[in-house]
Amino acid sequence: MSRFFRNTLKSLLVLGLFVMAALGGALVLFWPGLGAQVPATTPPAAADLDLPPLEASTQRHLRRLEMAVMAQQALARTQQGRLAEDLRTAAIGLSMWGPFAELSQRVLVAFGDQPALRQTLSFGMPLVAWMSQPFLFPLDTPGLTVEQQGQRLLTLIAERARQGMAITIDNVGDASHTEAEAQAYRDFYHELLSTYGHQGPAGPLHLSLKLSALVADLPVALGAEAEGEAKQQEILAALQALLAAGHEQATAGFFIRIDMEEYAYKDLTLDLFRRLVEMEPTLVRDPQGRLRLGLVSQAYLRDTARDLVALAGWARARGLRVPVRLVKGAYEPFEKRLARSEGRPSPVWNHKASTDANYEALAQYLLDNGDAFEPAFATHNLRTQAHIMALADARGLDRDQVEFQMLYGMGDPIKAAVVDLGYRLREYVPAGPLYRGLGYAGRRFQELANRDNALARSLPGDFSTLAAQPRFEGAEDRADGAYSLRLIEAQAD
Ligand SMILES: Cc1cc2nc3c(=O)[nH]c(=O)nc-3n(C[C@H](O)[C@H](O)[C@H](O)COP(=O)(O)OP(=O)(O)OC[C@H]3O[C@@H](n4cnc5c(N)ncnc54)[C@H](O)[C@@H]3O)c2cc1C
Repeated sequence: MSRFFRNTLKSLLVLGLFVMAALGGALVLFWPGLGAQVPATTPPAAADLDLPPLEASTQRHLRRLEMAVMAQQALARTQQGRLAEDLRTAAIGLSMWGPFAELSQRVLVAFGDQPALRQTLSFGMPLVAWMSQPFLFPLDTPGLTVEQQGQRLLTLIAERARQGMAITIDNVGDASHTEAEAQAYRDFYHELLSTYGHQGPAGPLHLSLKLSALVADLPVALGAEAEGEAKQQEILAALQALLAAGHEQATAGFFIRIDMEEYAYKDLTLDLFRRLVEMEPTLVRDPQGRLRLGLVSQAYLRDTARDLVALAGWARARGLRVPVRLVKGAYEPFEKRLARSEGRPSPVWNHKASTDANYEALAQYLLDNGDAFEPAFATHNLRTQAHIMALADARGLDRDQVEFQMLYGMGDPIKAAVVDLGYRLREYVPAGPLYRGLGYAGRRFQELANRDNALARSLPGDFSTLAAQPRFEGAEDRADGAYSLRLIEAQAD
């Protein structure tokens, strides 16, 4: 062996060892409970503090929830596979670490959109699949017939029913880029509605879908006005067809929730929802007159109080209750980056505390306007959940009248705790092929790697940031927040 060859081999070996040591060190940094300061804290007893009654009740619920979650976590730690789970959490943390985060997101989206890239970098796919696996329910795996896929979903529904939960099924995927993709997306729902709408294996079949996936190239069409109207007609026709498919079958019932996506689609989504309800008064109602079509509201938007007040007026005028899932909003970094690059103010609050404060205020508004809304509360944040529990108590609601929603693969000990406490819980299950779910998985990675995220902190037992009552922060958020609060308080007079 020539000296040159020997030296090259030695250098490669040293480099390899160096990379492995760096990766190992970095993984240790992100190992759950090792890299971060994890004080196992609980808030002071509410009785010790001189708090207004609602806040005192929130604190009591929070302590009860924390204890229930800790008990569930202790149980989970005894189960097999902890090491693999911790390794996966560390790998997700590393992939979303500061300088890598943007790159990792872009790679995931590119993998999702481009089969050629997936093929070229196929050696990396098992790692991506392993990291995404807990967040996506695998369907469309090669060789699986439609019946077998349906059977898998029925098994999941039955399993969750045994755990005291219901589910909503989402055909995972962001915007469809081709007509074939959009058609496959629609077929998924059509198949479910026409096969299982009549059976209702555990109550009504609940589905969640995204308008940008229902038709091809929605973002492009919205840029061109004439095409935009044609796309809106396409969306309405697609939703009509799904409602009709379910309507034909449904004796046990079905329900379709339109997820809320980027801010650019918000007004369009609200508008199409209202148009469809007005166009199809029979298809959108179940035999009891309740809406079979629902919406999502994002508390991270400055507009949402105004939108909900307008929606309440519209619903009351028609004697309807609009099913609204209240979320915080999944696209915060994207919206802020886009607003900055376009030189316009951000539609999203500047501070996380403002989003949390807005969520609590909107939750109260939804519960106080039960004649116009049927709310469901989607959050993994124990403080937010505790506040909703306190609001429900103050309104004399039974626990089983309050629906929480959480994501598949996220915060399972919290789900078990919420169910044990007697509340309704619906799990949102993104199902489909891996490549369509990569953008979605990336958003989950980002949340789990963000130390400000309530779930990322509470899973290893750090409840320290949850106790404080959230308030609008910073001059801009305080001014817009005061306007939102005045708007919804005016409705209470
Ligand atoms: C069942 C279910 C369905 C969902 N459906 C949708 C949907 O249709 N559309 C959608 O957009 N999202 C949806 N989400 C995701 C949701 O919006 C949140 O991203 C996710 O639940 C995390 O929020 P949290 O309350 O659980 O955690 P928390 O940690 O309490 O809150 C995290 C959230 O706070 C906000 N935030 C974080 N940092 C900042 C900041 N600097 N400034 C302002 N705000 C900030 C963001 O919204 C972030 O997601 C859904 C979530 C669930 C559980």
